[in-house]
Amino acid sequence: MKHVNGNEWKDAAICQHYFEDNSNYYGAVTPPIVQTTLFTFDTFDAFIEASNHERENHLYCRGVNPTTEILEKKLAKLECGERAKVFGSGMGAISATLFTLLEAGDHILLVNNVYGPATIYSKTLEKFHVECTNVFVQDAGEIEQYVKPNTKIIYYESPSTQMMYMLDIDTIVDIARRHDILTMTDNTWSTPFYQKPLTHGVDIVIHSCTKYIGGHSDVMAGAVISRHEIVDRIFEIGHQFSGAAIGPFEAWLLIRGLRSLEARLEHQARTTQAVVEMLKDHPMVKTVNHPLCFTGKQKELADRYLTGYTSLLSIDLHTDAFEDVRTVADACGIFQIGVSWGGFESLILPQNHGDNEAYLKEAHIPGGLIRLYLGMEPAEDLVSDLKQALDKIMK
Ligand SMILES: *Cc1c(COP(=O)(O)O)cnc(C)c1O
Repeated sequence: MKHVNGNEWKDAAICQHYFEDNSNYYGAVTPPIVQTTLFTFDTFDAFIEASNHERENHLYCRGVNPTTEILEKKLAKLECGERAKVFGSGMGAISATLFTLLEAGDHILLVNNVYGPATIYSKTLEKFHVECTNVFVQDAGEIEQYVKPNTKIIYYESPSTQMMYMLDIDTIVDIARRHDILTMTDNTWSTPFYQKPLTHGVDIVIHSCTKYIGGHSDVMAGAVISRHEIVDRIFEIGHQFSGAAIGPFEAWLLIRGLRSLEARLEHQARTTQAVVEMLKDHPMVKTVNHPLCFTGKQKELADRYLTGYTSLLSIDLHTDAFEDVRTVADACGIFQIGVSWGGFESLILPQNHGDNEAYLKEAHIPGGLIRLYLGMEPAEDLVSDLKQALDKIMK
């Protein structure tokens, strides 16, 4: 940690060195994977002391592990939060957070397209008498009309990960504060490099670390970052009792993923420029949903909140037909058909399955929507692969 020389920690420096002290582990330049399930104590008194304060002590690996702790310290610092807790998946973090903070009689407000399984989880909480409303708004100010006296959490994504639609964070935070509501956002698309919601007054940030932070499509994890008081409660209840703990090796892979995060994002941003240029001009593409193509209010929001753009986008075709989106997906050679994103490999995923009309309508997703993730392959290859696939549906 010597290199800082009194300067503020920059994001890239946090990823490389923050909370790592080689002198604790033989001068090794990477931290050890502390592959253990429990820790032992010299005296019974020491054990009792540790078990009374498990959040700060190494006792059992469903609690705190030293390798995982390094990752948590880095994520909290990157998001300008007080504390982070890492989980075995993004859904582990989301479900633990909602389960901890919501009680019978509370109401949760989901705005626009929150991640599908998180929406279903929120609706499932109705069996514990937690009310859930999923609203669709153009403008964040419209959220206020859906607030109820028992609203406890407003949960949103900006940009959302299907339509890339942005919301005005300051407006959401203002509404929430006036009604004593917690705000929770999923920052997976932006990564901590390109947007820092806590600095705008948001209470809770969620990440699926399975995506860009892991970066290699080989590890599942999630994180929640917030104030001490909130993360401590989530640790005691949602983390300890739901049990979605991460293994030390997975935490180590994420520390490794963080080292190259900025370089990967910068490379992918250049690729995105090239691919978007082609898509904008393609006769079969009606709209390209990505901040590079935003105009008006959406552009203003992108300029205000984002310091960079990642490589997940969607296109809406001049056709709603299932046969057309299937033709495009099947015609791709480099873009592989699959869920998830954030790894090395480019992916294509139409939302229209030919049998899910009701879902598309409910989620406000057009039938011609195709989600694209641009990975680490050469930009020219991605451009030509997509272009020849789109050409196949030209009438
Ligand atoms: C993938 C994803 C999640 C869920 O994360 P998992 O690690 O798959 O459980 C949550 N939010 C967004 C935006 C995602 O893309």
